[in-house]
Amino acid sequence: MSSIIVHYQEIALKGKNRPWFLGRLVRHLRAAVADLDVREVRSLMGRIELVLGPTANQEEVGDRIRKTFGVANFSYATTAPLDLDAMASAIIDDLKGQSPATFRVSVRRADKRFEMPSPQIEREIGGRIKAVYGWTVNLSAAEFVVHIEILANAAFYFYRKERGPGGLPMGTAGRVLCLLSGGIDSPVAAHRMMKRGCTVTFVHFHSYPILSRASQDKARELVRLLTQWQLRSRLYLVPFGDIQQQALLLIPGPMLVVVYRRMMLRIAERVALIRRAQALITGDVVGQVASQTLENLAVVGAVATLPIFRPLIGMDKEEITAEAQRIGSYPISIIPDQDCCTLFTPRHPLTRARLEAVEQAEKALPIEAFIEAAVRDAVVEEFEFPVVGSTIER
Ligand code: ATP
Ligand code: MG
Repeated sequence: MSSIIVHYQEIALKGKNRPWFLGRLVRHLRAAVADLDVREVRSLMGRIELVLGPTANQEEVGDRIRKTFGVANFSYATTAPLDLDAMASAIIDDLKGQSPATFRVSVRRADKRFEMPSPQIEREIGGRIKAVYGWTVNLSAAEFVVHIEILANAAFYFYRKERGPGGLPMGTAGRVLCLLSGGIDSPVAAHRMMKRGCTVTFVHFHSYPILSRASQDKARELVRLLTQWQLRSRLYLVPFGDIQQQALLLIPGPMLVVVYRRMMLRIAERVALIRRAQALITGDVVGQVASQTLENLAVVGAVATLPIFRPLIGMDKEEITAEAQRIGSYPISIIPDQDCCTLFTPRHPLTRARLEAVEQAEKALPIEAFIEAAVRDAVVEEFEFPVVGSTIER
């Protein structure tokens, strides 16, 4: 019978909360493969077993596991009887057709009731493989490793470890609200927060109908993509055009970008309170554009009470781009659109805004009315992955 054995991040999952973290991980895995023929997902003596049904496509299940945070590595495994002879002959049978230059056997015994110590099992089974196939043993740098894991009711063997994404299981760190533009940076920032176990809710500001719907479509596509890691997402599409047009008349041009950003954060914070999110996330990077000087970041950030986290703050564009490519967001992010902030932005924005001056200028704006209208008129969309049969509770 075939299974997938998942190993999780030992260190992160240690301590008093371990059963709770583990429960989240198991629950997430179950939901992530809900539409595939996976018979069972169970926690088993320090690892998790996914029992595959006859129509399950291993690679497809593997792809879901690759997007499950908290997984250190996983292996496509076969179940073997808890009996040395039977185990050895099953493995020898299975190895037919392989011809590695060197090999070794690596045994982990989670249940010590199996009477033979691990090194002895390794020698015994390794010896039999060598006798049948004539392969050379190399204990320190084997090209091919036969892994055997012995548990209470079954043993598993496999030959390869696939890398998991690391991180912490989804839903173990609480909720955050990510300001998602259509650009390259913010989806990467959201993904980094998910990796640390945060559930991310998204807010996108658009200037439709002054501009096209393109930025909203990109935001949707990005959220759809990112939902593969968290399985359920909510996207707030907030109309921002009216606010921008009014600000354009009442705020000195060079200050506009900073004022727009502060308005976005105020509205985002209101949404965060509604959704019980505990922090705001942006894709800001020091020095990347005019609104991201230290001075401007401080003036913009001063408007929020909730903490603002900027996971990409010290990264280069190339590093962020490489990460966007790994995640798969890059091709969506580079689709041309009219960002709401480029339309109404002067050519020479302030690079060193002063908080008092900005606060003084903002007195001309009906800020509370802006926030209320934005929250009232926001369109909320829900996303699920996999689309059929997802049952994860939040
Ligand atoms: P990105 O690639 O994420 O768009 P950027 O380098 O283009 O970032 P800015 O456009 O200055 O930088 O935006 C900085 C951050 O402000 C973004 O990462 C995002 O978190 C937030 N932001 C900007 N525009 C919007 C928007 N229209 N809707 C929601 N958030 C936005
Ligand atoms: Mg942008």
